[in-house]
Amino acid sequence: MKEDYLRFEDEFLSPYAARSQNTRGRQKYIEPCPLRTEYQRDRDRIIHSKAFRRLKHKTQVFLTPGGDHYRTRLTHTLEVTQIARTISRALRLNEDLTEAIALGHDLGHTPFGHAGERVLDKMTGHFTHNEQSLRVVDVLEEDGRGLNLTFEVRDGIINHKWDGNPATLEGKVVSYADRIAYLNHDIDDAIRAGILKEDDIPKEINALLGVKKGQRINAFVVDLVESSYGKPEIIQSPRFGRAMADLREFMFEKVYVKSAAKTEETRAALMLELLYRFYEQNPLLVPGSIRKNAAEPKVYITDYIAGMTDNFALKTFNEHFVPKRWE
Ligand code: MG
Repeated sequence: MKEDYLRFEDEFLSPYAARSQNTRGRQKYIEPCPLRTEYQRDRDRIIHSKAFRRLKHKTQVFLTPGGDHYRTRLTHTLEVTQIARTISRALRLNEDLTEAIALGHDLGHTPFGHAGERVLDKMTGHFTHNEQSLRVVDVLEEDGRGLNLTFEVRDGIINHKWDGNPATLEGKVVSYADRIAYLNHDIDDAIRAGILKEDDIPKEINALLGVKKGQRINAFVVDLVESSYGKPEIIQSPRFGRAMADLREFMFEKVYVKSAAKTEETRAALMLELLYRFYEQNPLLVPGSIRKNAAEPKVYITDYIAGMTDNFALKTFNEHFVPKRWE
């Protein structure tokens, strides 16, 4: 069974695809699985992790959304995975590797989206969610033992941001899929929230991509596949590259920075900053299971806060800062 699959990888995949048999390997050797390739095992390890389950209560753009139809970090991750797999399959790249990277890319994301990331960066001097995602899979999961993933999955996770340079084309596909996913679902959520109207989107962008969410995703995906097919790189046509940059700029201006969706962010950021300072003064209140993973308080406090869901951060803040009534 597995032999058939390995033969499929060998014979069918593009010469530029990563083959699971050629993996640079794991941090610690484990016996091969009789059924699954190494990348399929990594995908499964990520799906069964605690950090993956916590994504359901972490903000994407709209803070702990009350409405059931807004994206969370979990549904964002699933949309990225779907888009990345479609691209990967069309380019005959390794779909399993793509899937594992996409499912793991945001595991280190803080509560309250990028507001949380900025607070931890300010408090510690350096914090990025992609580096924290790698720390989650390398160290924090499985009670400090890490998930022991392959090099290619770990590389794709830490390099998924736009300025990253993944070693595999599968990693590059995830980086594009992340951007295609968030630009499109954030437009959809912003319209749902009444912050944007369909006709606010610049006409030139609509003319190229179409006006519906599905059309836009499809247009970006088809362009990326057509431009990259049979090549040792993942590229967009210049026209679509520009449209993506314009759309991103538009979203920064209308939604990510200035909109009404951001007013609560100031409070969320202040809350996380107070929590950070609280644990600096009371390091022993960080659970021992987290403290044991680092010598420096700065590191384990960051691990603890970055790992919190929005809900858990609110609950913890309430416990430490909000006076309780005498019952
Ligand atoms: Mg992402």
